Amino acid sequence: MRNTVGSSNESIGLEKESGQNDTFVQDSSQLKEIGNKGKKRSFLLLLIGLFLVFLFLQRGINSFNKSRVSEGNKLTKESFVSQNGSIGNNIEEKAEVEQVKVPEVDMLLSALVYLSGTGWSGNIREELPIGIDNLGKGRLEEYLRWEEEGDAKLLIPNNEIGYFLGERAQQNITRVLKEARRQFLDYLLEKQVNKIYIDEIEREVLPPERIFYYSKNDPNSDFTRTEAVILEDKLTKDYRKLAMHVYPVDIYNRVRILKRTGIWQEQEELVEAAAKFLVFHEMTHVLQQAYVNKHLPADKNKPSIKSLWRWADKTLVGVSSKHFWDWGGGAMKDSNNKTIADESQAEGVAWLVLASVYNLNEQQASSVWKHAYGRLTKLRGQLEEIRKLSSSYPRFSPEDMAEPLAKVVEKYPDPSKARKLGMIARRIISLPAYVGYANPMQPEESNLLWRALRD
Ligand SMILES: [Zn+2]
Repeated sequence: MRNTVGSSNESIGLEKESGQNDTFVQDSSQLKEIGNKGKKRSFLLLLIGLFLVFLFLQRGINSFNKSRVSEGNKLTKESFVSQNGSIGNNIEEKAEVEQVKVPEVDMLLSALVYLSGTGWSGNIREELPIGIDNLGKGRLEEYLRWEEEGDAKLLIPNNEIGYFLGERAQQNITRVLKEARRQFLDYLLEKQVNKIYIDEIEREVLPPERIFYYSKNDPNSDFTRTEAVILEDKLTKDYRKLAMHVYPVDIYNRVRILKRTGIWQEQEELVEAAAKFLVFHEMTHVLQQAYVNKHLPADKNKPSIKSLWRWADKTLVGVSSKHFWDWGGGAMKDSNNKTIADESQAEGVAWLVLASVYNLNEQQASSVWKHAYGRLTKLRGQLEEIRKLSSSYPRFSPEDMAEPLAKVVEKYPDPSKARKLGMIARRIISLPAYVGYANPMQPEESNLLWRALRD
């Protein structure tokens, strides 16, 4: 099972959803019918008026207007960000998209709720005063079911496999990935990002030949990622330079999400859009690295140091500080918050670039947002509860629960289930990334990002 919510941890099948537009179309056809009934007309119009006012208040001004945007109403790229300013908020309120189930987050929250009722001290070095029965056997069984469901949904079915696997697909997708990289850089130019960062990406951080696609059909393959290149001695890494490794499962997961928007009709177009959406996320990490590289003092420019960003005189992390956690004030605090910022920005920027490249109108862009991020509303709520519960323990950092909690669930009587539960619990270590995925950078926040990148 995948452990990155943003890439492919989930696999919710949502066949039909009652979107705002559907609702509006229904409303207007009812209006027409009522209008033909003569006498009662004015009274009914009054009722309709009241009903519309009610809807208006319910949905908020933005979402109400959005439901009327016509298909052909393309936004100019400049107006896009500000006009979409509140998309995320609407989704949060409506939460009409089927929600992602993340067993490790549910498990951590259940454990913390239980522990906080026992007078637990918050010391994770001592054995946790919690057992299988406290977590609930039925609940643990359910986590295993979620895992299986997830795997099944992320296995590419035979009738779609030709788009992902085989020589032709390999060539085609590799071409698409490189084209997406180019389009991302063009978008940066459009946003007036300082040329020094774009040059740094071209020359150092990610030239196109460092993009790799691995065509295998495995829900549990490695993760799509950008990571430091390994130098010729095969031992040291250069953290200023990245390679992008892309796996079909992560494209397929985004295919499933984008399909629900109904924007891309042909399967080939859908696969291409999904692959690009994924690359735009990864390219944001490339951009973050380029920014760090250009802000390293000369005497601190040591490529083999993993946390090179700590030496940079400026980073982009602060742009997203509103999503930061306290993490018990411990040693990992800055690093965890950087992960939150990195992932939050990657999701928010990926959405912006996708909307720009496909010239999506506001309604379409909003639909992508809803299907990609609206499914994280419940997760966001659970993470927030975890944050609050954790903050009552000084120096306690919730991602440190990964190993102690794995030890607890590995006492499950069935050994193979015990092993799987332990695996789920250990994914709690990725908690900072989940916080980032669950809080994608909002369009208004992105203005701060572009501003920082212009200097
Ligand atoms: Zn990422």
